[in-house]
Amino acid sequence: MARVNDHYLKLRAGYLFPEIARRVSSFSQENPEAANRLIRCGIGDVTEPLPLACREAMHAAVDDLGARSSFHGYGPEQGYPFLREAIAKGDFQDRGIPVSADEIFISDGSKCDTGNILEIFGPGNRIAITDPVYPVYVDTNVMAGNTGAARADGSFEGLVYMPCTPENGFVPSIPEAPADLIYLCYPNNPTGATATREQLRQWVDYARSHGAIILYDAAYEAYIVEPGIPRSIYEIEGARECAIEFRSFSKTSGFTGVRCAFTVIPRGLEARTAGGAAQPLHPLWLRRQTTKFNGASYIVQRGAAAVYTEAGREQVTTLIRHYLQNANLLRGACQARGWSVYGGVNAPYVWVRCPAGLDSWSFFDRMLRHLHVVVTPGAGFGAAGEGYFRISAFNSREKVEEVCRRLREEWE
Ligand code: PLP
Repeated sequence: MARVNDHYLKLRAGYLFPEIARRVSSFSQENPEAANRLIRCGIGDVTEPLPLACREAMHAAVDDLGARSSFHGYGPEQGYPFLREAIAKGDFQDRGIPVSADEIFISDGSKCDTGNILEIFGPGNRIAITDPVYPVYVDTNVMAGNTGAARADGSFEGLVYMPCTPENGFVPSIPEAPADLIYLCYPNNPTGATATREQLRQWVDYARSHGAIILYDAAYEAYIVEPGIPRSIYEIEGARECAIEFRSFSKTSGFTGVRCAFTVIPRGLEARTAGGAAQPLHPLWLRRQTTKFNGASYIVQRGAAAVYTEAGREQVTTLIRHYLQNANLLRGACQARGWSVYGGVNAPYVWVRCPAGLDSWSFFDRMLRHLHVVVTPGAGFGAAGEGYFRISAFNSREKVEEVCRRLREEWE
């Protein structure tokens, strides 16, 4: 009989969001009237319409496909030059960050990229992740066989967990246990924290001196509004020798349903072979993508390239400002209740300490049952998330104002 990948069987029964969906659906069935006033501030999906510049570019791209002279079939697996060049210039070179177009690999999402990247790394790497964490990093390592069994608290043997707390500003210090692959995500999901240049420099120095690779997820880079906060790991000297960066159009431009992202692998970035020789990673990822991926669609890539036009930039800025103002309102409403609030300034997520006596899931249940608002329990992001909840700013203004009103008037 054929064998399955037994590592999948180590995964916890419920990934966080299915468990939330299950609780919301059973509550809605029991309370159909309350269900009509449910407001979802849980899952991090955007709500506002796509920027006009992106829509126009996609319409025009559809028309391109309607004429033989401008038709596009399979494109380059690593993305069209028009998009790779626009990204290299707009996101990096214009900001003085040394990344070239041929180091950018376009894809249909950062979720797949952050999972698929493990294919080019061998067995035996020691994996360091923050706690709390975007759950995809953990689960993809479980699937790849990079962990041991699950523990009772949902963590996995074999992973190096780096607690992120208010004391360290939700940026981990270098762990005592050695690490070969280090996942960092700033601005952070779920805590909304950012990392300073100095904090990232310490990580880059560590990675360089230990031959480790940083997997830097900058999916929320566009939300950085305060000056001086690094937008890319490559702003840190030496990062080109030790870091891969993931970026996505999902939260920047409302592309969660359109699907476009990219991964940066600098030419000189190396890891070692089983025999100990230095091996560049760029050709391995190119080989992986050209073998297993046939490229993001032409239409979508045209839409993404429109983000870098003048109109596109303005519209994206307006979109981000909208979500950040939501975050600001939610922060204010939680603070007014006397709760300790983090994030939500350079990120679309607000991370809040649950009021005394409530753990993450009991707080979740209380918000659901009393306020009819869905938040995300912090414990779902890792053991160190216990006692916190995440509230997402991805919503209409009207709904955010209503959530704030309910927090003010209906909590007690
Ligand atoms: N990385 C982080 C930290 C995220 O929070 C998300 C989505 O929520 C992603 C990656 C996934 O992005 P994409 O929509 O490009 O797959």
